[in-house]
Formats: sequence, C-alpha cells, structure tokens
Amino acid sequence: MSSDMVIVYHRQPYEEVEVNGKTVFRENKSPNGIVPTLKSFFGGVDHGAWIAWKLAEDPDNPDFEERVDIEDDYGKYTVSRLPLSPEQVREFYHVTSKEAFWPILHSFKERYNYDPVDWENFQTVNMRFAEAAAAEAGPGALVWVHDYNLWLVPGYLRDLRPDVRIAFFHHTPFPSADIFNLLPWRKQIVKSLLACDDIGFHIPRYAANFVSVARSLFGVEPSKHDKVPEKWVAEGTALTERVLPTYVKFEDREVAISVTPVGVDTAYIEEQVGSETAISKALEIRSELGASKLILSVGRTDYTKGGIEQLTSLERLLQDNPELRGNIRLMHVSVPANKDMRAYEEIQNDLEQTAGRINGRFGTLDWQPIVLISRAIPFAELISYYRAADIAWITPLADGMNLVCKEFVASRLDGDGVLVLSEFAGAAVELSDAVIANPFSHRSMDLAIKRALDMTEAERRRRMSGLRKAVIEGDVHNWTPGRLRLTPTPTAATAA
Ligand code: UDP
Repeated sequence: MSSDMVIVYHRQPYEEVEVNGKTVFRENKSPNGIVPTLKSFFGGVDHGAWIAWKLAEDPDNPDFEERVDIEDDYGKYTVSRLPLSPEQVREFYHVTSKEAFWPILHSFKERYNYDPVDWENFQTVNMRFAEAAAAEAGPGALVWVHDYNLWLVPGYLRDLRPDVRIAFFHHTPFPSADIFNLLPWRKQIVKSLLACDDIGFHIPRYAANFVSVARSLFGVEPSKHDKVPEKWVAEGTALTERVLPTYVKFEDREVAISVTPVGVDTAYIEEQVGSETAISKALEIRSELGASKLILSVGRTDYTKGGIEQLTSLERLLQDNPELRGNIRLMHVSVPANKDMRAYEEIQNDLEQTAGRINGRFGTLDWQPIVLISRAIPFAELISYYRAADIAWITPLADGMNLVCKEFVASRLDGDGVLVLSEFAGAAVELSDAVIANPFSHRSMDLAIKRALDMTEAERRRRMSGLRKAVIEGDVHNWTPGRLRLTPTPTAATAA
C-alpha cells in the first residue's frame, strides 16, 4: 500500500523483542525523545511509512523481513527496514556521522576526523534509504527526512520521485560557513538539501548559517515573501505563523528555510509529574539528599554537553564559598552513549576522575558534593528529580535544542525552581527567563550558579512563570514538517 507520509529516520519506531521464539514489535514506551513525536504524525494520514536500518549479520539473507505492517495507537504504517551489516553501520554511523559530521555540526573542528571516512559506503546507505522511501511514497506524498546521517537522501529521492514533497529537519546545530566548508563533500551535501521543498532548523541562527553556506557554495540569495504563501502554511500552528519564511531559488525551484523549534509534550509531563508515585519519589529524594539544595545536571556523555566545565565550576564555587560545603549537592547524570567509541570513553573517564577529585577534596564522612550517575534514569523517575531539584544546571558547549531543560520547566507545576542554561543550547532562544551562562567562560559559569543559589523566591517564581509560558507555547504538538501542509496535495504532474 502506498503511503501519504513517509518518515525517514535512521532508528526503528518500536522495540523488536523475541518472546517465546517469536518476534514481537513492542511500542517503545519511553515518552521522551523524537520517535513518539514523529509517529504521532501518522494520525493525520490514511497510511504512513517509516524507513529505518536494522542490523543484519548477513544483509543478503533471503529470510530477512524487510517490511512490517503496524497498526497501533498512532495509526497504520509500514516500517521498511534496510538490512545493514555491522561493518556498514560502523562506517556509516560511528565513523562518518559521529567522527566527521558531529564535531563539524557542533563547531568542534579540533575533533573532526576526516581520514577514516568511507564516502562510498555513506552514499550507498543514503541511496538505499532514498530507494526505500521512493518505493513507499504514494503520488504527491510528503517525505520527511531527519538528521545529518541522511543528508544525501533528498537529492537521490528528487531524481527517483520528482512528484513527492520533501522536507528535511536538522536536530543538531548548523555551523557557520567557516566550519561547515571544512567538509570535502560540502557541495554534494548542500545540493542534496536544496532538492527539498523545506529545510527545517530549531532556531534562526542555524537557518541563517545554512543560507550563508548555500550562498558560499552556490551563490543562492535568500528572499522573503510578503505574506506566507498558501502552500507553506501548516494549519493551526502558532509557531510557523510568527515568522515569514525565508526561501532560496535553486535550479528553478523554491526551497523554504524554516525555523520550527521542537518542544516537549507538556500535558503528558504534567500528568506524570502530578502522579502519586512521582510525588512520593520526589519527597524521598529530598529526604535522602543530605543537603539543603539540589543542583541537577542531566545529559549524554558527550564532549558537547560541557560536563567537565560544570564540575570545575562547582569546585571553584566550593573553594570560594566555604559556607556552601555540606549544604549543596550536585547530581550529575551522564548517560553513556556510543559504546566502543574512544572519544566517549575518555570523557567518561575524565568526568569520573574530576568528580572523584572534587569529592576527595571537599567530602566528609556524611557529605559528598557530587553524585555522579553514569547510566540512564528511566523517564518516569527522572521527572521526580526534576520536581525535587532547586536548580537545573544545563550548560552544553553546543546543543541543537536540549529537551532536558524544557522537560524540567514543564515539570515545575509548583512554579518554583531555577534554570541555568547555556546560551549555546538552541532552547536559550525561547527560554530567555533562564539564568543564561556562557560555558566557555569561568566567570560567567561561576556567577550564574551563584546567582541561582542566591535567588529570592519572588524572582524564581517570576522567571519560572515566563519559562512555563514559553515551554507551553512551544509544545511539541505545535511542531510541523517545516511549513508544508500535512495533508498530501498531489502536484500538477501526478494529478495530470
Ligand atoms: N533522558 C532520560 N534519562 C536520562 C537522561 C536523559 O530519559 O537519564 C532523556 C531526557 O528526558 C531527554 C533526552 O533523554 O528527553 C535527551 O534529550 P536532549 O534533547 O536533552 O539531548 P540529546 O541527548 O538529544 O542531545
């Protein structure tokens, strides 16, 4: 069956488990993250499709089940799984995406590793995603491609299926031309993106950077329409109506560059955080804290997340303010990702050593300043920490959006709590009532955390009220595939 909407995202939209020797496709119950948000778009169409990869020891095995039809609370959709060998996954994901693209996207050019990239393999994998999307898409369907590891899909897909509408969303930052153009494949990547109808980013700065990159490579000039053209408006979305689209002309087509920051499901979080279990867990956390203030930091173990910068700021805070010793506690959650990657193992070791040093320097028999957690906390439990914390300390060196800070705000039904947020998290654009810090500056980091600790209740409540308004307005239900209408509208070519 052909689909009205095709989502192209590298991960599968469910958990695949073996029960009594049979394969069962179980809904991934985690409410956070992008997967449930994307699946919710299937509710608006007759039939959807999702393209992902699946690890296959032998990709040529004829028994490999590529297509699976699902009918669940989200709607009816087909999942097309591309069998990739462990070697292909390593080259495509761990090497090209994580060692070459990730550092460039986050402007860490000293970590950029170009040599091991197998560009041939990256092109092949992207072509296979494009072919699978072309096979699933009905006439004039909307194909929504996600993230940098699928950068080449729009270009291949446009050649295969000129009739479909293509949107692409970047979940990461997008760097300036000085950094992006270090990629030797820059022209091929940007040309592919310009085959889209809509290229989406979280914040205006990333969109502007993309335009400057496209201008540097292809001489395209950005323009604005006087009013939002009919075909770009996504119905009923406050966010998209606020900003007139920027567009560029490329090879006789108009490409919209849109800014649609992703949000969190505020109603869901409020319901969870208000539950008996969450409330009693939060009380338990407070009673076991062994200090009067809880500072919470949550993120993946990644050099972009600024963990070391936080720990060393805490060390200076305790050194300069002896009265805080015994009174504050930092719970630092650092979730290991990308197993087997040396860069990430090094960061984990650094965090453990630094936290150990600080605990050794200031800790006593009954108090340690830092609790370092190196595992993921289930979301249902994490919200109790959000509820129990006095301060959420979220200061990445670079972060496309950062959902943790929005989840913290959504959890604060009590209207209290302070958010200290890096100016280099995309979320800072919307969350101007946070205490904004520059994690590259010791002075800025130290002042921000001290300010948060000393803040009066009146100021905390005033700021939290502004933050809550912003997070609720930017709820994930207002998010769209750029400015494209969700309802498929066959193009002239397919209608003829
Ligand atoms: N998260 C979680 N348990 C943890 C740490 C994080 O469930 O112990 C979730 C968190 O709720 C959030 C997501 O992981 O939804 C992280 O998203 P974010 O945008 O902040 O960062 P990313 O990891 O995508 O860079």
